[in-house]
Amino acid sequence: MKKETLAVMAGKTHQDASGAVMPPIYLSSTYRRDNDEGLVYSRLDNPNRQALETCVAALEGGGTGMAFASGMAAVVAVFQCLKPGDHVIVADDTYFGVREYLQTVMQRWGLNLDIVDTTQPEQVKQAIKSETRLIWTETPSNPMLKITDLAALATLARDHKIHLGVDATWATPMLQQSLQLGADIVVHSTTKYLGGHSDLTGGMVVLAEAHPFTESLRQIQTIGGAVPSAFDCWLLLRGIRTLSHRMRGHCDNARSVVDYLAGHPKVHAVHFPGLSSHPGHEIAARQMSDFGGMLSIQVRGGKEAAAKVASSTQLFQQATSLGGVESLIEHRAPVEGPDTPTPDDLIRISVGLEHIDDLLADLEQALSQS
Ligand SMILES: *Cc1c(COP(=O)(O)O)cnc(C)c1O
Repeated sequence: MKKETLAVMAGKTHQDASGAVMPPIYLSSTYRRDNDEGLVYSRLDNPNRQALETCVAALEGGGTGMAFASGMAAVVAVFQCLKPGDHVIVADDTYFGVREYLQTVMQRWGLNLDIVDTTQPEQVKQAIKSETRLIWTETPSNPMLKITDLAALATLARDHKIHLGVDATWATPMLQQSLQLGADIVVHSTTKYLGGHSDLTGGMVVLAEAHPFTESLRQIQTIGGAVPSAFDCWLLLRGIRTLSHRMRGHCDNARSVVDYLAGHPKVHAVHFPGLSSHPGHEIAARQMSDFGGMLSIQVRGGKEAAAKVASSTQLFQQATSLGGVESLIEHRAPVEGPDTPTPDDLIRISVGLEHIDDLLADLEQALSQS
């Protein structure tokens, strides 16, 4: 079946006497033990989580899906599969929480780390050591929309027998089939596009078939316990059912916003992989089916101007996060803290599903205030 059909149908396995088309929410924390094959306890598993994991794994084209309580819990679970003394190579423009977590908690725990520009496979290659176990990238990246060539890194990873993990939150499985491109670990913050309505937090890991991390990751999930509630799993699966159409709307609107902003005199840079001037454009055109709903811009007038624009929109709500039906705008550097490499005049935009005319009118009035 095609992705669009899987998004609607995968994981629809419940059967009960009512004949309900939509699944019930199984709020029970525990299960009767009359049947040894059955469920035991909701931290270990529950029907809503099973349905969700089945669906997301199907959307990624196979393998094993595991759901977590947040995108960060999913990322952390992958790194916890490593052992002290292991070395990892991490993209320089990853979600700032990943960098912060690795540099504080995981470094203390004995993980060695090199941060490199993964858009340059040569730099990744030079960073590989005999202890390297994992290359961690994010494409498109947050917040600079850098594009990493997954197939090129996958070749490198295979040659050196190391794992390639990708945070594909911004691409979603609708726009990028990361496992097929050669990654063996895919992570999503399902808080974003997969949920799609800014009403839950969640994360997913999908591992390639027969992955050596499968057992550890399942232990970390079920014993570690950073699991989503049955209600969040249900809500998330409900969101995924419309993912393919929402992504089309996000992509179409983002392209129009970019066309408008790219010619605006108050904007000196637009970061969007759909622009032919973007350094990763050719790779993105090859490895993605469309360019997504996220972009960032840099405005003339430095951080004051950026703060002013981000606080002057009326339809675009000034808030962190992304991927919901509503458009959001954020002056990014202050959110990421004093050590961030993000330029201080950068504004990150999550383009929602409102009418494009209303979105453009709002940007026009906000930019005219700076
Ligand atoms: C938001 C985000 C995360 C973190 O996910 P949470 O659900 O907030 O924990 C990780 N990676 C990317 C690319 C994100 O956008």
